[in-house]
Amino acid sequence: MYIILLGPPGAGKGTQSRRLAQEYNLKIISTGDIFREEIRKESELGKKVKKYLEAGLLVPDHIVIELVKSIIRYPECSLGVIFDGFPRTIKQAEELDRLLSNCNRKVDIAINIEISDEDVIKRNTYRRVCINCGRVYHLIFDPPKTSDICDFCGGKLIQRKDDKEDVIRKRLEVYRQWTRPIIQYYSEKNILVNIDGTKNIDEVYNQIKTVIEKRVKS
Ligand code: ADP
Ligand code: AMP
Repeated sequence: MYIILLGPPGAGKGTQSRRLAQEYNLKIISTGDIFREEIRKESELGKKVKKYLEAGLLVPDHIVIELVKSIIRYPECSLGVIFDGFPRTIKQAEELDRLLSNCNRKVDIAINIEISDEDVIKRNTYRRVCINCGRVYHLIFDPPKTSDICDFCGGKLIQRKDDKEDVIRKRLEVYRQWTRPIIQYYSEKNILVNIDGTKNIDEVYNQIKTVIEKRVKS
């Protein structure tokens, strides 16, 4: 199964994709996580994309598409993938369709997690991420047991550089301009499902599970 999680920054795509990947044994392709890791390693790719992430701008399509092209070939992707943060432009969505159709596959479902602009600011401002395992917390809605320490691996929790209010607002603007049109793209293909992302993490998860299981049965 090939599932896309859509939604503005902070909608809960990363949080939900981790749970879903475990339950349905799917590989996660999170382009944002990959870019952050490459920046941390100071790789060539990391050096190329750093300025875009720090400014809250999109990494150019050709770089993102090359990256996804190289990962999707991995054998573990043949069992199914959850895409988190990809595609983010119509061009990326079209390229993904092409890549999948080359191996007789297709996007099965695009799940659009909806939250308000006010929630976008609240979710991102109080997000904290483990520098070691990448697990995501929220200081109010999903806090770690011990402040600044990851419950799972004991790693240090940090705030993403792009989770400062001015950059969050820029990311929201970029989302509106470039990414929101993808909702229509998948709606026209009859594979779009809207989910109320304002509920708590478990409730959002249950809504998504219901949608996936309905799709599996049909
Ligand atoms: P995205 O991957 O869409 O940017 P994340 O999964 O990183 O979003 O979630 C953004 C922040 O909101 C994190 O701090 C996370 O803990 C928190 N969060 C995620 N889902 C919910 C929810 N349903 N209710 C409250 N907070 C949530
Ligand atoms: P995310 O972790 O999904 O919030 O992404 C963080 C940042 O990585 C974005 O603000 C972009 O700079 C970059 N990025 C991640 N995925 C993409 C993508 N599919 N296309 C362009 N830029 C991306």
